[in-house]
Amino acid sequence: MQKLKITKLTPHKQTDYWTVCEVEKLFETPFLELVFEAARIHRENFNPQEVQLSTLLSIKTGGCPEDCTYCPQSARYHTGVENEALLAKEEIVAKAKLAKAKGATRFCMGAAWRGPKERHMPMLREAIAEVKALGMEVCGTFGILEEGQAEQLKEAGLDYYNHNLDTAPEHYEKIITTRKFDDRINTLGKVREAGLKVCCGGIIGLNESRKERAGLLASLANLDPQPESVPINQLVKVEGTPLFEAEDLDWTEFVRTIAIARILMPNSHVRLSAGRQQMPESMQAMCFLAGANSIFYGEKLLTTSNPDNNFDAQLLYKLDMKPEGSDLDFATILEQQEQEMTDYIAEHGTQEFLEHSHPAHFAGEQTSGGCGSGCGCVSDKKDDSGVGYYKA
Ligand code: SF4
Repeated sequence: MQKLKITKLTPHKQTDYWTVCEVEKLFETPFLELVFEAARIHRENFNPQEVQLSTLLSIKTGGCPEDCTYCPQSARYHTGVENEALLAKEEIVAKAKLAKAKGATRFCMGAAWRGPKERHMPMLREAIAEVKALGMEVCGTFGILEEGQAEQLKEAGLDYYNHNLDTAPEHYEKIITTRKFDDRINTLGKVREAGLKVCCGGIIGLNESRKERAGLLASLANLDPQPESVPINQLVKVEGTPLFEAEDLDWTEFVRTIAIARILMPNSHVRLSAGRQQMPESMQAMCFLAGANSIFYGEKLLTTSNPDNNFDAQLLYKLDMKPEGSDLDFATILEQQEQEMTDYIAEHGTQEFLEHSHPAHFAGEQTSGGCGSGCGCVSDKKDDSGVGYYKA
């Protein structure tokens, strides 16, 4: 296949239409050239030292009727995820306050269901309004929306609606059968019509071909207008899901995907999302160089573990990055965290601190990549698959 000369790339306008073949050619670009071009485009549109921090809270976990083959929350698979009822508004708002204190500027709420029922809407509206009143941006990922629901969410103060395309249209029915690719597009249309901003990305590592990865990226880039936020997820393989044995992708393929997302969607925030826990720091740094400028920050990323705030803050401090739109810098965040830890240990003792700060560790829950606390639970209990079972 003839390689596209990256120096002759057509500057992207939102009205341009990207064909799958054009995007496939980008994948064929020599790796370092591709990263360099993505970095150049990133610098034209953003401050490359800034990273947007979003915190994601699962407000209703597990028991989902959908059959997404990558997802441990589907009721069809036995993954050990415990079903939790919809959280109370007070709990949601308390978590949002905590996220803000740790430097997050956007708070995302996710619910594991096909879509919200009318009976859920009053609580969702109240929670959105109260989180918004904290001065944070608010995002929701609530699945398929019925007529009028997007307007209700917008009226309550929602800024962004997350609805991923998941994978390429051609690959969609191998991954999910309970809905169609076009259902996603329909909900995205309702979201745009209601005046909400769009957070829309996908997952790679679902046994898709490179052409299908290109198809996903072309589909995202051809949304008009392009999504303001583009989460790029790497599959987190969870035992019990059909994709647990999915083929591993080389790390360079993930970085290429980030770089191409940046090139195709120059004005969007490209979010390094699920799967970050499994990535070494050097790979995450390469993703930032290739144009990623947003992360999910701390706590759990729905049901798979995400590097905790301390680990994130240390990495971003080392990279001389700063949180976008926040008065805090990572040196201050680290100092605050250190002080919180010292105060807690002084009051409650070390054992209780560890139990409090590493509940997964002590409950023997499945997690991966370590908790970043320096308690030494990472390397000696990690199994070959990269997944560890931490027990006290
Ligand atoms: S990805 Fe969302 S819709 Fe699909 S099974 Fe998981 S929670 Fe349900």
